[in-house]
Amino acid sequence: MAFDYDLFVIGGGSGGVRAARVAAGEHGAKVALAEEDRYGGTCVIRGCVPKKLMVFASGYSGIEAEAGAYGWDITLGDFNWERFKGSMHAELDRLEAIYRRLLANSGVETFDARATVKDAHTIVLSTGEEKTAKHILVAVGGRPTRPNIPNADVGIVSDDLFDLPELPKTMLIIGGGYIASEFAGVMNGLGVSVTQYYRGEQILRGFDNEARALIADQMVEKGIDLQLGTNIAEMEKRDGGVWVKSTTGVETIFDQALFATGRKPNTDGLGIEEAGGALGRGGEIVVDEYSQTGVPSIYAIGDVTNRVNLTPVAIREGMAFVQTVFNAKPTPVDHDLIPSAIFTQPEMGTVGLSEEAAAEIEPIEVYATTFKPMQSSFACKPDRVMMKLIVSQATRVVLGCHIVAPNAGEMIQLAGIAVKMGATKEDFDRTVAVHPTMSEEMVTMKTPTRKT
Ligand code: NDP
Repeated sequence: MAFDYDLFVIGGGSGGVRAARVAAGEHGAKVALAEEDRYGGTCVIRGCVPKKLMVFASGYSGIEAEAGAYGWDITLGDFNWERFKGSMHAELDRLEAIYRRLLANSGVETFDARATVKDAHTIVLSTGEEKTAKHILVAVGGRPTRPNIPNADVGIVSDDLFDLPELPKTMLIIGGGYIASEFAGVMNGLGVSVTQYYRGEQILRGFDNEARALIADQMVEKGIDLQLGTNIAEMEKRDGGVWVKSTTGVETIFDQALFATGRKPNTDGLGIEEAGGALGRGGEIVVDEYSQTGVPSIYAIGDVTNRVNLTPVAIREGMAFVQTVFNAKPTPVDHDLIPSAIFTQPEMGTVGLSEEAAAEIEPIEVYATTFKPMQSSFACKPDRVMMKLIVSQATRVVLGCHIVAPNAGEMIQLAGIAVKMGATKEDFDRTVAVHPTMSEEMVTMKTPTRKT
């Protein structure tokens, strides 16, 4: 049977765009891609990129005092949200144009339309057109969710943060994950009075406990009203703001309330089950290690599969898909030892097992140090940083590396190479320190802090 295309990609985010342009540009496949919203997807349009720009913007708020200690007389004026928002959106427009251009230059045909799967080889576009393809790649990502409580729609979600008409004076952030904790820091830095409710004992569940505690302490130190063991019980629009009653019985009116309570794969009405594929309990598309669904011609990558929801992982999955399908090299995706950064303030970089997870598996040594870094110590700021290694007692292999520090994301990218290579503690120790830096502590921790 002759198909319209060798490959039809649904979704123009990081994963889908990469797979489409490599399949077309490097392997000569006839490729089409449909995107119902903006090219670039969550990461570029309403996630990592604008978030990081806001992290940068918020970072200037402490500069006055610090620069003063270094001899500069600086008076910081007010933060102009309108001006920054305009520049941020201009940058997003520029990046979206690059994504479109990359697709066009690779010979990918694009449709600005919603696409759904009709059967193993057929796609239906919102324009009414039907297209056939030998392979279908679903890369439609996910979206933020609100909890199931009355009036939840009076709260905003992360997508809305980049278009706020004005910066609120007060904001409640509900949740304790990546998005909640990152935006608590961003908004606080931009001058918003931030309250964060998290229902559990400590924010950033699943990460190393010592790192979580240090981040939470520093967030509170910077002025965030972090309320643990607290959730939202009731809410409604009142007096131009959002009235909230907490599970601890406290009633407050905030200018805005942000739900950062998780994300859900975008599979509603997509036609995956009707075509013979399976969805998991959270609505994610079930795939094997090659990103193949139960329907041999349909693959899925990125957040819609809810494996590891990070942009570089979606890109890896897209590249592996192309190798498997268009280069005759079956390539499973390696999801082990993925370094990542959480852009809280202070920032965290992490790779491998937390102390708690490692201790459940085997006897370990922990090497950890927290200290005031030179730059902020000189400026009499209370900031503290942490460097931590989790080491296998049996093999001496570094099982986990956790950094809480300014630019920890930059540091963990490099430490991640050593950990991925299977470096031992002695390999770290053989490496000469770079002085004076914060990260030199990573190669100078001689005595275990504890053994478990
Ligand atoms: P997370 O899953 O990280 O966090 C969701 C938070 O919401 C948790 O603290 C969870 O609590 C809480 N929660 C869930 N349901 C409710 C509820 N009904 N009431 C109150 N609280 C609730 O999701 P995010 O939305 O923050 O991020 C989604 C994903 O996006 C991340 O997992 C990550 O993969 C990716 N991401 C990565 C970033 C990065 O790499 N820097 C940045 C932003 C996002 P509990 O812990 O108790 O379940």
